[in-house]
Amino acid sequence: MTDIIHLLPESIANQIAAGEVVQRPASVVKELIENAIDASAQKIQVIIKDAGKSHIQVIDDGTGMTLTDARMSFERHATSKIRNSDDLFRITTMGFRGEALASIAAVSQIELKTRIDNEELGTCITIEGSKIKSNEPIATIKGTSIEVKNLFYNVPARRNFLKSNSVEMRHIIDEFQRAALSRPDISYRLFQNDMEVYNLPAGKVVKRIVNLFGKNYQSQLVALEEKTPHLEIYGYIGKPEFAKKTRGEQFIFVNKRYIKSNYLKHAIQMAYESLLGKDYYPFFVLFLQIDPSHIDVNVHPTKTEIKFIDDRTVYGIIKAAIRQSLGQHNITPSIDYSMDVNLDLSRDFGGSHANRTSADLDYERFRLSGKERSNLKNWEHLFEKEELPETELIPKENAYNKSDEKIILESRANKREGLEDLLQNSNQVLSTYQVHGKYILSQLKSGIMFINQVAAHQRIIYEKYLNVLFNNNGSTQRVLFPITIELNPSDYSLAMDIKKEIVALGFDFDIFGKNSLVINGIPADITAVNEKEVFEGLIEQYKLNKEKLELKTQENLAMSMARYTALKEGKILNLEEQRSIIDQLFGCKNPNYSPFGESTYFILGIEQVENNFKKRN
Ligand code: ADP
Ligand code: MG
Repeated sequence: MTDIIHLLPESIANQIAAGEVVQRPASVVKELIENAIDASAQKIQVIIKDAGKSHIQVIDDGTGMTLTDARMSFERHATSKIRNSDDLFRITTMGFRGEALASIAAVSQIELKTRIDNEELGTCITIEGSKIKSNEPIATIKGTSIEVKNLFYNVPARRNFLKSNSVEMRHIIDEFQRAALSRPDISYRLFQNDMEVYNLPAGKVVKRIVNLFGKNYQSQLVALEEKTPHLEIYGYIGKPEFAKKTRGEQFIFVNKRYIKSNYLKHAIQMAYESLLGKDYYPFFVLFLQIDPSHIDVNVHPTKTEIKFIDDRTVYGIIKAAIRQSLGQHNITPSIDYSMDVNLDLSRDFGGSHANRTSADLDYERFRLSGKERSNLKNWEHLFEKEELPETELIPKENAYNKSDEKIILESRANKREGLEDLLQNSNQVLSTYQVHGKYILSQLKSGIMFINQVAAHQRIIYEKYLNVLFNNNGSTQRVLFPITIELNPSDYSLAMDIKKEIVALGFDFDIFGKNSLVINGIPADITAVNEKEVFEGLIEQYKLNKEKLELKTQENLAMSMARYTALKEGKILNLEEQRSIIDQLFGCKNPNYSPFGESTYFILGIEQVENNFKKRN
């Protein structure tokens, strides 16, 4: 067989690259404005005809290009902005990939006019489908004008794909607004079919906002400024009552680059929290200044996505800063700052787990809520009865583990005695001990009760969540930094199938792109060592249960929660915690077994103990 692989001609390679960079007229507008900004322009004019389908022109008063540079600028990977790979991590310009002009030139007809300061004559280059048609000296003003005609003239599929003029113009205006907001110190003008749409003199951010969106915005804005050693935030946020039903007017700039980030938008939305009605979105124009080496812009050809080295910290700072300025402006009368990150992050920056909820959740778990307390009545009630039907105390049938039956039968008589004994001393505090980090021992008058702390706690959690699921009354603790987790497609669809139940347990999560979720909250009383682990563990355990036992969704989930969030062997419990386990266990409907069929406790009768000391003959 003959060799069949060959390199594509440059013009086709450029056309392919153009597919990513130049999606529509607005992409051209964006790239050309960025080049003008990088050329230190003070004035940028954008002239559009036919929604950019026939004519896009950007004129700047920036540095201009020499003759050679002008020719080079259309080559792919030709750039004046970076030289080596290290430069990729200290990007301070809008462009750096050196592919915009090459891409645009591959799919349109271009006329470039440019002149640098010291030259008398400038250069005019015309180019069509990557081929230079003419190259002449020309008398022109300092700076650069690039005219892009008949976009996609040679790619009919693309051209037909373009939307109506009003839609394409909307996209252009979006790009223009982003660019105009990103640099209020530059003056901008936009013309559409010979009509001036915007004339924006250079000035401050607030003036730019008002010039773009209207005078009535002025009274609705709240200024924001926050400096931390590694991140500076400034800008304006809209008062809550000003929020709209659409997300349109939300702008985040990182080092003056407009970026798309649902994650950071989420931080902002969270900061407003209950101040906004459902499905209302606040206005904001936020500028983040961060050391360029802490971000990666080279994620996508359009450069609107970036990666932060530590996005959790950025999230936290933004949220805290917004809360603070909402608070300062008396928009929120009382904001609880205790949960927020300390804005002096000098020590903590870089440690992604540095600022997590620090409440002593461990303790919280053992504190009984009012409702749980009332459960205790069951327990007391249990002891009040003179004659308890045997089955209530010790079910003869152990659905899961029959071998336990022997022990149960053996201790049955003693158990009754012990419990009745307790009843007589109902206001006496239980004395308890923990041994081997796994058993809680409690002295009863006629014996000793041994409680398996893991099994007991699993039972408690199981019934608790079963209850929560049936009554749909889970409560949620917000996590300080929402966590994004990516699931594989099948786990994702499983999670979606049982979303209602997961939410009922107390998880609070949003869908966040393909196969990803962002977790905002977890059930109120689990010790959140790692929220991500808890969630993933839940799904994992659910799948396991599903394979092994045919359980109802609720039972399965409650079992998963029990397996996953119950305390573990080796966990040292203080007296209050030991007592609480006993209290809660006997508040359960079925205190005798863990949901997995292990006995939760047994009683060693005092006679049995005594027997062991008897002299044998
Ligand atoms: P990039 O912006 O990523 O460097 P481009 O293809 O957009 O790549 O531009 C290539 C080069 O052309 C730039 O690096 C810059 O040197 C030059 N250039 C483009 N537009 C202008 C302009 N308006 N003024 C001055 N130089 C420009
Ligand atoms: Mg560029």
